[in-house]
Order: sequence, then structure tokens, then C-alpha cells
Amino acid sequence: MIQKTIALVAHDNRKKDLFDWVAHNREMLKEHKVFATGTTGKMVAEVLNDVTRLKSGPLGGDQQLGALIAEGKIDYLIFFWDPMTSQPHDVDVKALLRMSVLYNVPTACNRSTADFLITSSLYGDKVYKAILKDYSIYLNRNTEQPA
Ligand code: PGA
Repeated sequence: MIQKTIALVAHDNRKKDLFDWVAHNREMLKEHKVFATGTTGKMVAEVLNDVTRLKSGPLGGDQQLGALIAEGKIDYLIFFWDPMTSQPHDVDVKALLRMSVLYNVPTACNRSTADFLITSSLYGDKVYKAILKDYSIYLNRNTEQPA
């Protein structure tokens, strides 16, 4: 078994949904390291042992997770965002989802996708290396100021 790092986030109206999913899958999750935004982390720590709590989402927790993704430190993202309520930190939510696409991180935003992810033969004990698109052109852009 290869220990993976899983990020968990749920907006308030989705927290019960995420808690139910985590409780249902606790055996599959407990071998892995979990990072979670503040309130989500407090909730899932009731059923999981190894939970690193970041700041609450609206206080920067989503951005912390985005930074961890950029550093290659997150293997899966389970993000139950609320499609019915606007969020004060909507830009952070969007940024986190952008990072997950940019770095090709398996991401579940609803329970059925989370179910598919956790029952995949690629989950956990198989070595899976996400293929990253070549963005090196962005490193080599000419940044000289015009004369
Ligand atoms: P929370 O943050 O886990 O602290 O509630 C989640 C979010 O709103 O992004």
C-alpha cells in the first residue's frame, strides 16, 4: 500500500454529505494522510486519525490547498462545493479548482465521483503518476522590459 495524501473540503451545506462519505469509507481513507480546511478537518477528525487542519476556507484554507497542489503534495482532492450558495471566497474556490485541473489531480466534487475515485483500481495501492502537460513555454517567456 502506498500512502497517498488526500485533500478534503466541504462547504457548509455539503458538510454532512462529505462526513457521510468519509464515515462510509473510513477504512479506505485511514491508511492515507489527510489535509482539510479548518471546519471540514475538525469534522472528519471525528472518524479519521491523521488529519492536518489548515485554515478555514474563507480565511485562506482553499489557497493553502492550492499551494500544496502546486508543490505536488496532494494526490486526490475531494471538494464538495455548494452549487446553491454564493461564497465570500468564490475566487479562492475557483483558484483551487484551477490548480487541480492544472496539476491533473483526481478531483471529486460530488459523491458519485468520489465513489468512483475511491473504488478505482488506481486508488491507493497502485503507482499512478499523473501526466502533466508541458507548460515549459511559460518558463521561457521573454520578460525583458521594452526599451
Ligand atoms: P471550512 O472551509 O472547512 O473551514 O468550512 C471550507 C470552505 O468553505 O472552503
